Amino acid sequence: MNLINLGSSSSGNSYFIELEREALPPVKLMLEVGFPLKELHKKCVANNININEIEAFLVTHNHNDHSAAAKDLIKRGKKVYGNSYITGGNPLTTLEHNIKKYIASDTTVIPFKVEHDAPESLGFIIQTSKETILFVNDCKYYKSDLSRIKFDYVFIESNYDGQSIHFAYTNAKENNDHINKKRYERLLNSHMSIKNSVEHLKLLDLSQCKAIFLMHLSDTNSNEHLFIKRVKEATGIKTFACKKNGGLV
Ligand SMILES: [Zn+2]
Ligand SMILES: [Zn+2]
Repeated sequence: MNLINLGSSSSGNSYFIELEREALPPVKLMLEVGFPLKELHKKCVANNININEIEAFLVTHNHNDHSAAAKDLIKRGKKVYGNSYITGGNPLTTLEHNIKKYIASDTTVIPFKVEHDAPESLGFIIQTSKETILFVNDCKYYKSDLSRIKFDYVFIESNYDGQSIHFAYTNAKENNDHINKKRYERLLNSHMSIKNSVEHLKLLDLSQCKAIFLMHLSDTNSNEHLFIKRVKEATGIKTFACKKNGGLV
């Protein structure tokens, strides 16, 4: 697999990946299109990505930081897969819980429900004859049992550190800071803490996993180096954090 992170935060998400295939060149996919098309296009050009070579775009849910370019890409005839809020209900591209779909030659996706404060939010298992990846972005938790799948690469949200956010939340409550109180409540109810990411990772078969990528880290309530260390210690797998403005740590 080849990965180029174009952006990873509540200001915008987009990940370009190439997955190996048997007897075919790698399939080029884009996971999340959370920047306006013009900006996404610029990011692609800066990273030597030809947007016209991308065979499928996959979007987890209809929050702007994941889906901003979806409508414009669909208008331009691109194959954008997601729930019906993304696709307008087009049966060719609409994804539903546990229903496997072919998205390119030798490339399938199995979507599954995740808990988040957007309707029908999804996680993805994407598979070719050579590689299998797990992609879980904005999500408090998911219930699907994925323990029988051997993942080569795992992408998972790791938004905040529970301890630091509970401390900030208590402070906001005590200071009658309603705006931050609401903001923290939203984070706690719709995003994944590092502790929760680790717990979900521990339930997976990582015996073939080559790398874990942490996504969507909060600007103020996370520490990328500490998060990487915690995941590495818990799983024994090489771990990277996707940086807010692109690239990896
Ligand atoms: Zn988000
Ligand atoms: Zn969201």
